[in-house]
Amino acid sequence: MPKVSIQRTKDHEYASIKEAVDKVIEQLGGLEDIIKPGYKVIIKPNLVATPTDRLSGGVTRWEVCMAVYEAVQAVGGIPVIAESAAAGADTESVIQKCGYQDLRDKGVPVIDLKDKANARCTVEVENGVVFNKINTWEMVRDADAIITVPVMKTHDQTEITLGMKNLKGLLVDTQKKDFHKQGLIEGVVDWCLHLKPVLEIIDGTYGQQGLGPIFGETKEMKLIIGSKDLVACEAVTGKIMGYEPKDVMITKSACERGFGEMDLDKIEVVGTQIKDVESRFKRSSEVEIPGIPESFNLIFSKDACTGCHNTVISALMDMKAQELFPYLENMNVCVGPVTKDMLPEDANAENTVCIGICCKKLADEMNFRWVVGCPPGNADVVKGILGDRLEYGVRYN
Ligand code: SF4
Repeated sequence: MPKVSIQRTKDHEYASIKEAVDKVIEQLGGLEDIIKPGYKVIIKPNLVATPTDRLSGGVTRWEVCMAVYEAVQAVGGIPVIAESAAAGADTESVIQKCGYQDLRDKGVPVIDLKDKANARCTVEVENGVVFNKINTWEMVRDADAIITVPVMKTHDQTEITLGMKNLKGLLVDTQKKDFHKQGLIEGVVDWCLHLKPVLEIIDGTYGQQGLGPIFGETKEMKLIIGSKDLVACEAVTGKIMGYEPKDVMITKSACERGFGEMDLDKIEVVGTQIKDVESRFKRSSEVEIPGIPESFNLIFSKDACTGCHNTVISALMDMKAQELFPYLENMNVCVGPVTKDMLPEDANAENTVCIGICCKKLADEMNFRWVVGCPPGNADVVKGILGDRLEYGVRYN
């Protein structure tokens, strides 16, 4: 029976977080069965994009990675912390802003996979539903073991994002975008089945609810959750967050494809129990950005990827800060490969703007304004929305 350990942290100090991580690992039977002496181990945090605050629940805090790092070293593994941020996002900026540079200064290898020094490669994927080849890095291909260390948060496309989806950060940017275009859910499961990560340790100290994965509301949970069965880990964590396992597409698909167990009656929960810590997370769909005019219409294609999602939400946040929301009245903003049938009847060249290369076809067909980029920059999105109505560059930097 797969085992999932839930531990509360006493506070947010490193000692308390390390104690919880160590307890989780101990309750899972230690690392010796999955990490042999000399193994090259990748510890993969979620550093998706630069947050306003490192403890916003949007990114994995360094303390959890460091505790895992020390545990791997203790059994003779050779760990590195490695990540590539979302498509178009700067990993190095997250490393600097979120305390990972301090780890580097202490000699811990924290690797920005997007750095040109890291050689890329293509790996063959057996029995892939969406992909039979995936573009990644040699360091990922050559790792003996991968440990995924996500944060506990909601996601606007996949309900929640935990350790399985976190592994998308081990793909080069073009491949990340392909996942969104060709099938995110099954693509993530293809990748998990190929990588066979040995352990998931979830940073549930601060989670994020609502507009995840980066613009959500911080939710303090003071938890560390872990398992060697990632599906079981995510079924239990999702349940704590208020989701039935069958309602989370990645969990369900991974279970159906034999990657692990999602039936809560067939999972042994050790440490703290679900009922003692469950606390419903607000869904992404339940959030409204205050002040957005009712007549504003944001049309997301289901195939739009995180790059454009984050950019558009971020651009709207910028507009809010600069009191530009009146310019959203009666506007349609199309994101990703939106098709004509998704448009309202009154969509026209004045009131509709298409965002990103995926939306160019619609822009050409309908003669709509088009914002170039993959993803475009925030300022370009705002300029695209404003059109001729305001000289935006004067007010925005
Ligand atoms: S244009 Fe946007 S939605 Fe399309 S691939 Fe690029 S980032 Fe993703």
